[in-house]
Amino acid sequence: MSQQLVWFRNDLRIKDNPALFHACQAEQAVTAIYIATPHQWQKHDDAAVKIDFWRRNLFELQQDLAKLNIQLHFFEEDSYQQIPDLIATIFQQWQINQLYFNQEYQANEQQRDQAVMERCQKIGLSYQHYHDQLLLPPASLRTKAGTPFKVFTPFSKHARRHLLNSFHIYPAPEPCKKTTVDKLKHQCDLREISWPTVSKSLYNFWPAGEQKAIARLAEFFQQPIRSYQNNRNLPAVLGTSRLSPYLASGIISIRQCWQASEQYGEVNTDIHIWQNELLWREFYKHTLIDYPQVSRHKPWKIQTEQIEWRHDGEQLSAWQQGKTGFPLIDAAMRQLLTQGWMHNRLRMIVAMFLTKHLLIDWRLGERWFMQHLIDGDLAANNGGWQWCASTGTDAVPYFRIFNPVTQSQRFDPKGTFIRHYLPELAHLSDKEIHLPNVKNKPENYPEPIVDLKVCRIRALSAFKKLKQNVN
Ligand SMILES: Cc1cc2nc3c(=O)[nH]c(=O)nc-3n(C[C@H](O)[C@H](O)[C@H](O)COP(=O)(O)OP(=O)(O)OC[C@H]3O[C@@H](n4cnc5c(N)ncnc54)[C@H](O)[C@@H]3O)c2cc1C
Repeated sequence: MSQQLVWFRNDLRIKDNPALFHACQAEQAVTAIYIATPHQWQKHDDAAVKIDFWRRNLFELQQDLAKLNIQLHFFEEDSYQQIPDLIATIFQQWQINQLYFNQEYQANEQQRDQAVMERCQKIGLSYQHYHDQLLLPPASLRTKAGTPFKVFTPFSKHARRHLLNSFHIYPAPEPCKKTTVDKLKHQCDLREISWPTVSKSLYNFWPAGEQKAIARLAEFFQQPIRSYQNNRNLPAVLGTSRLSPYLASGIISIRQCWQASEQYGEVNTDIHIWQNELLWREFYKHTLIDYPQVSRHKPWKIQTEQIEWRHDGEQLSAWQQGKTGFPLIDAAMRQLLTQGWMHNRLRMIVAMFLTKHLLIDWRLGERWFMQHLIDGDLAANNGGWQWCASTGTDAVPYFRIFNPVTQSQRFDPKGTFIRHYLPELAHLSDKEIHLPNVKNKPENYPEPIVDLKVCRIRALSAFKKLKQNVN
């Protein structure tokens, strides 16, 4: 019996999955594969929490596909290099008609897909791939001069105009149920793959399955969206969607999110700001495609390569472990370590503290985030870090340095967030909690590792030394 083959990667869902939808349109049976590549994941610094999230979602996906009479088969390979051979073997042994997959845009994934497509051509296997991860396809957004956008605001205005009359934003229809199921034997069970072990306590924060993601989107539009403008910067409030892990692993699609925002009614300020966040995601993904150096550990502003970053293992470690003596920084870093996630405002504050006050290379922070985030995404993470370090496209000017104490007073005024993650400071007053002094500081809480004023001046001077202005 011949069949269509769907290769699942970063699109672990049934709804609005272009590759799955198109494969199901054909008459033949559909079979699906997932290829785990633990060594490659390690090379990419993918966090254990994220890999475990994939595992949990794959389990759900397998059940959902079975309801459509589609079997999901698992394979494990060390790295991407082995995948063309594997696809060729599957093609020969399973009587495959056509291969379907959704595009991915990072450099290694593009190389992998190129190698697979070349092999398909050699062995006579036809393939179809689909635009999926973006609202608008790569290279579709250009300035009047025909160049990629370098600044977010004109990019977002241009994107909004395109989205008004683009067919790209409509989710794909539901795939139809197949009448026959493949009779192939499973090569490898999901449980046999080398998954990392993580604490199950995270599962409540990040339940698996596309139904859970869809429910989260609906809940967000019931209440939090109404105060998004006011609450999105307050880490103690559940004011944002918390959809990033689901978007990063393709458990929900960007079109489903955009459509939900359009169906909400009039585009008021809350909706507009939320859509802008989706467009920041879009902007960074387009930047990654248009400027490949950013996926090769290079700054977008190449002249910032000359910054003399400091090498201070002790301070780096204090930052990583949440032991800097600045309560909001420490609470944020402990949120990352315990939840595998961090609030956006806090990501900005801790990233700026590392790159400006400690003057430590943004790449070390980017890596630590990637190794711990459940929503780790190369484009968004790199974009966020380079924004904070003033090395990226449309980045914050180097002289606008967030002060972690005033940010704490402003965005966690009662210290609610700090108290939750730093119970050792819970007894301090709302005023004291933002920067304990020698008298009220408990013994088990560190003293501030740096003097903010001195460090600010040091950062300004390091940036000023650059030959060209990096504003
Ligand atoms: C230093 C730094 C590192 C970051 N690393 C990542 C990362 O690895 N993965 C990631 O998904 N986001 C990253 N972000 C962006 C942002 O912090 C998260 O997307 C956001 O906190 C997710 O929370 P939410 O789903 O509740 O967002 P919401 O406020 O509900 O926003 C909706 C969606 O828009 C997208 N989004 C929101 N803000 C941004 C942004 N600034 N840049 C890009 N996309 C955005 C996300 O997909 C998010 O789920 C980073 C930001 C910074 C400053």
